[in-house]
Amino acid sequence: MYADVLVQYGVKSLDHTFTYHIPQELVGDLTVGMKVVVPFGKKEINGFIVNISNSKPEIEVKDIKSIITKELKLNEELMELGKYLSSKTLCTLIASYQTMLPTSLKINNSKETYELKRKIIYINRDLVEIEHYIENNKRARAQIETLEYLIENGDTLKSELNASAVKRLLELNLVSEKTESIYRIDPGIAYEEENELNDEQNRCFEEVRNSFNRENVFLLHGVTGSGKTEVYMHLVSEVIKSGKCAIVLVPEISLTTQIVKRFYCRFGNDVAIFHSNLSDGEKFDEYKKIENGDVHIVVGTRSAIFTPIKNIGLIIIDEEHSSNYKQDNNPRYHAIDIAKWRSHYHKCPLILGSATPSLETMARAEKGVYKYLSLSKRIGNSKLPEIKIIDMQPEFRKKNMILSEELQLDIMKTLEKKEMVMILLNRRGYSTIITCASCGFTYKCPHCDITLTYHKTSNHLRCHYCGYTVINSKTCPNCHEDAIRDYGLGTEKLESYIRELYPSYRIVRMDADTTTKKGSHERIINDIENGEYDIIIGTQMISKGFDFKRVTLVGIINADESLNIPDFRSGENTFSLLSQVSGRAGRSDLPGSVVIQTFNPDNKTLGFVSSHDYMGNYKYEMEIRKKLKYPPYYYLVSLKVISKDYQAASKESTKVAEYLRKNLSKTSIILGPSTANVFKINNYYRFQIVIKYRFDDKLMDVLKFIDNQYILNKTTNIEIDIDPIRI
Ligand code: ADP
Ligand code: ZN
Repeated sequence: MYADVLVQYGVKSLDHTFTYHIPQELVGDLTVGMKVVVPFGKKEINGFIVNISNSKPEIEVKDIKSIITKELKLNEELMELGKYLSSKTLCTLIASYQTMLPTSLKINNSKETYELKRKIIYINRDLVEIEHYIENNKRARAQIETLEYLIENGDTLKSELNASAVKRLLELNLVSEKTESIYRIDPGIAYEEENELNDEQNRCFEEVRNSFNRENVFLLHGVTGSGKTEVYMHLVSEVIKSGKCAIVLVPEISLTTQIVKRFYCRFGNDVAIFHSNLSDGEKFDEYKKIENGDVHIVVGTRSAIFTPIKNIGLIIIDEEHSSNYKQDNNPRYHAIDIAKWRSHYHKCPLILGSATPSLETMARAEKGVYKYLSLSKRIGNSKLPEIKIIDMQPEFRKKNMILSEELQLDIMKTLEKKEMVMILLNRRGYSTIITCASCGFTYKCPHCDITLTYHKTSNHLRCHYCGYTVINSKTCPNCHEDAIRDYGLGTEKLESYIRELYPSYRIVRMDADTTTKKGSHERIINDIENGEYDIIIGTQMISKGFDFKRVTLVGIINADESLNIPDFRSGENTFSLLSQVSGRAGRSDLPGSVVIQTFNPDNKTLGFVSSHDYMGNYKYEMEIRKKLKYPPYYYLVSLKVISKDYQAASKESTKVAEYLRKNLSKTSIILGPSTANVFKINNYYRFQIVIKYRFDDKLMDVLKFIDNQYILNKTTNIEIDIDPIRI
């Protein structure tokens, strides 16, 4: 027997398989998808078996050395999915599989298992015999205590007993030892009853249930707090009853905390979770639960879409508009595409849920490609919040640089009523720009083309692209005056400002800097739920999904920040960010309100936000997209030509653009090359070319050809992003 083994060997060009002979002792054990060790040149490396056959190759081949993990392997579906992923994103097949697997199973990891085992001690004799021993060995106090403890408590963890006593008892063969493997995460058993669905929820539920066992895509468009999650849980429950499984995706780790809790309450240890904040061991365990069929439900972030759950009956992507569903490094896949592939494979429905669907999704629903379902009202008596827009120009004249008079007043009123305030500022750090008041010097990252952000807690200036850090000093490195000042506003500075303004209230900040430690999301969220805070300050991390009943006021500090991002999606994204964060206010019987501060009070997008007019914004944005030939009217591909050598990057990008113009169909539009949005990152210069097209059957071949040209190029690299989120 022979096996084709896919190996990873550094360079991209080596994405092909090598044939090996299967030695007699491994025949029968080896199957496709397993990770094995093979000799390769003078070394030994790891690879995946992609094919097994009887036909003897013409050249002489070496033997497979050994199997790494027998129990966990890529199953048939995932082997196929990898091929799709690699053809869709132009990555190598090995890169596909690597992306799909958790660290513990990745190819370069040779550790056999992460299994957590514990040792149990138990009595292996008749009680009479034990009592006899106790009678005759009165002086062996520790041993007697151990035996008595075991008689009373039954099997006990070895680590909880006196070690030397246990050792002696084992020698005497009065007790025995056994090993049990355990999972690190144990959700316990379910205890929560279902809420009865209201009429609107029920209609959505029925529509999806009626299409079980068919590959339909649904858009569940439900305003914030309309009970989407409840609909998901009812459907998942139906799926399980029919013996099938479900995947539920949420866009961010911070959101998994609340949703996972709700799924644990409802479904207990039938749920596995999967996100990047788990340890390698935890991921291994959850993956194994899934692989072994111990659970029917997986809840997680983007990568959970690759988990080996079998017999899928339903896939749900919540907050489907989130850009987090697209991976922004290689392979640049979108979780919705993967979900569609799996829904096709399993013939099961896919639900895309959102209060603010992406334009692409809504356009497909309008065309009838997706089935449109809507939840137009909030649950119970809860109403959508009232939204006020505050012009900051006059406020600035009154020296209210951060909070307007109105927002200050509203915060005070809310706090006095013992309700909670949430404040959004979509920029972390202390202040955005550090400038010398004397010579105008600003700190920029020496490796990237952006200004450094000041972090006060550590007194550092940091590059948010590459992590470059310098210590801040009062003295300007350029003119040596003590004139360094900070301008602009980040969450850290906002926090200290608010602490000064409301000294007797309890304040918490939630952003990428306060949630780096494992478990910190959970802790902050639990504390908020337990009523330990009055004011929550955060970045977009607090915008989606949270359901804190006592939040009645939401303040948005600088709405322009997001409007001014130079990107064709900035209008769409601003609408969704502001609507989502507004949706955190007034989610129970207490009415909510929202204050949006801006220098552009007449801005169209803000107008749509304040009147809760999703469709108004949708139509407005669609007009613009049509005029400017952007998605969903046109598809996009972005190519970045990257090099440490400025000349090379410039020259090669011109060559690429010329090749595209010559070889793509005449209806495709090629823009550039021009300098990329961030021109330099980590000392690499970046030029960009954008392709806009509607139909182009030559496209994939042309892109593949270009990609191949740069595989072995030592100075210049190319990054191809198909359907980019931003350009
Ligand atoms: P969404 O996901 O649309 O923001 P949720 O599913 O979180 O909305 O629902 C908002 C709140 O209403 C939650 O606290 C949820 O428990 C509650 N809820 C949802 N559906 C019902 C229902 N049918 N009956 C009672 N309470 C419900
Ligand atoms: Zn940098």
